[in-house]
Amino acid sequence: MATAKGAKSKAGRAAKGQASAKRRTLPVREKVKPDDTWDLASLFANDAEWETAFEKWKQLIPKYEKFRGSLGQSAKQLAACLKFDEQFDRLGERLGTYAFLKTAEDQANSAYQRMKGRQQHAGSEAAQAASYIRPEILAIPEKKLNDFMAAKELAPYRLALQRIKRYKPYTLSDAEEKLLAMQTEMADASNRIFRQLNDADFRFGMVKDETGAEVELSHASFSALLHSPSREVRKTAFHQYYDVFKAHENTLAATLSSSVQRDVYYAKARGYQSAQAAALFPDNVPAAVYDNLIVEVRRRLPVLYRYFELRRRKMKLKEIHHYDTYVPILTELDKKHTWKQAVDVVLESLEPLGDEYGDVLRRGLTTARWCDRYPNRGKQSGAFSCGSFDGAPYILMNYQPTVLDHVFTLAHEAGHSMHSYYSARSQPFLYYDYVIFVAEVASTFNEQLLSRRLLDAAQSDQERAYLVNRDVDAIRGTIIRQTMFAEFEKIVHEMAEAGEPLTVEAFQRIYGELLAAYFGPEFSIDEQLQLECFRIPHFYRAFYVYKYATGLSAAIALSERVLGGGQQELDDYLSFLKGGCSKDPLDLLKDAGVDMTTPAPVRAALDRFEKLVAELEELL
Ligand SMILES: [Zn+2]
Repeated sequence: MATAKGAKSKAGRAAKGQASAKRRTLPVREKVKPDDTWDLASLFANDAEWETAFEKWKQLIPKYEKFRGSLGQSAKQLAACLKFDEQFDRLGERLGTYAFLKTAEDQANSAYQRMKGRQQHAGSEAAQAASYIRPEILAIPEKKLNDFMAAKELAPYRLALQRIKRYKPYTLSDAEEKLLAMQTEMADASNRIFRQLNDADFRFGMVKDETGAEVELSHASFSALLHSPSREVRKTAFHQYYDVFKAHENTLAATLSSSVQRDVYYAKARGYQSAQAAALFPDNVPAAVYDNLIVEVRRRLPVLYRYFELRRRKMKLKEIHHYDTYVPILTELDKKHTWKQAVDVVLESLEPLGDEYGDVLRRGLTTARWCDRYPNRGKQSGAFSCGSFDGAPYILMNYQPTVLDHVFTLAHEAGHSMHSYYSARSQPFLYYDYVIFVAEVASTFNEQLLSRRLLDAAQSDQERAYLVNRDVDAIRGTIIRQTMFAEFEKIVHEMAEAGEPLTVEAFQRIYGELLAAYFGPEFSIDEQLQLECFRIPHFYRAFYVYKYATGLSAAIALSERVLGGGQQELDDYLSFLKGGCSKDPLDLLKDAGVDMTTPAPVRAALDRFEKLVAELEELL
């Protein structure tokens, strides 16, 4: 409600593998075999049908006006408005999904760019027209609203209303709310300044790669250069990259400090206990979940130190630096999976999820054509899953048979899609779309199952080591590193709340202490690495990254529970997939068998990490 109407939720994944290789030889969209593309007919049979529906949808927008000022009159009137809004959103989602997917097929196709633009424009007009709904509901006196909610007309909307009602204590007077709403764009300044500086203004110069070729250093090439087998290349890229951040450290510190101050201001203005509490409020997540994560990860850091030592040894280095932590320590497996083989191995690995899951997914990946398989000219890079209530849960891939990682990507996106599939069939429109807090559970759960399947089938120590290392990296990057980020966000917000100045020195001191703790006593930390605290885009929209860590922890704990359990454990997990957002995320996970308010799931994930590191120590 009152967000951009028809806006898409999607779960993206950056491109991995042989990015952009031989782009010239890619086929144009029209030349791709239909069997290799998705069939969007579950949304609209063709563009003409879309146009007809779009006209109908657009004409509904003025009808929002007839409910304005009347929501407090009766339960019946409120229900009529919510029903209208729900139907409007449902059609908007269908229209928006079609336009978005068509655009993704070929981003150079201006007809679909226009289609997407028209839908988005109408969507934001509608959001404007509907923006009175929430405040009007919040203005209904408590007792009256409770009576309304007990009425049978409002039964389907009871949960949605409860969710709005939760905000009542943090909602200000009309005049104050108006002032806050007027600040929205201003409040985004720190984020925009960072983006402009980081994405547009920064110039990092040229560096030589391991072949001696001159490469322009940029955010994208920086990460590629950190994977270089030549240490000189990695080291030069690292220092040259951070020199630019050093040269702008005062601007960056002021920008980050403003971002933190904004969070603190809004939390205070609305009466939340802290910026952290305000950020956790929408998901109804207690601070203990966030804080447990930090405590548990910190306790297990010595396992990570062991991994770094192993890496140092394997790379034959005297001392290990940050720029030595990305380069692959194991050669790629020489394993090819055709599309069909990839589908088969993914489905085999997901057998523990039962026949129905497997049958639906097999159909989706074959005859029902959910997935757009291969790269073509102009196609959006990477991969995503995009579910909607009325259509199939589509998957975009840029599948390459020689990249094992793409098989994992398929398992991952299939996890999102099956989550959408089950939720859309089990919940009404209003409660089918899962929230970010649980979004990465079903996807990474599937990656766990695939990894275990491939490990069981591994034919050599080299293959095993490669797979184990892949899992180690996933936990290292998603649970441990994101927890360090989450800890940084918490500390700097608490400092701001205590009135301590967030200076360029303060930021770097805090970050330096975290680096020392998370990388361990044997690790050589270059002073420039402290500048990393200025370059993480998420820090300018704080308190988000912890969800990556809790998501993978939950997925690991749940996959162990399902694999080690029986029918009950499986049913619990399937109910989670069917749950959409019909309950708060922690309750959905609790029903599935993991209680994120206790340390157990994070411990289970870190136990797995320790086991994998020990195995790698033996194998290498
Ligand atoms: Zn994902």
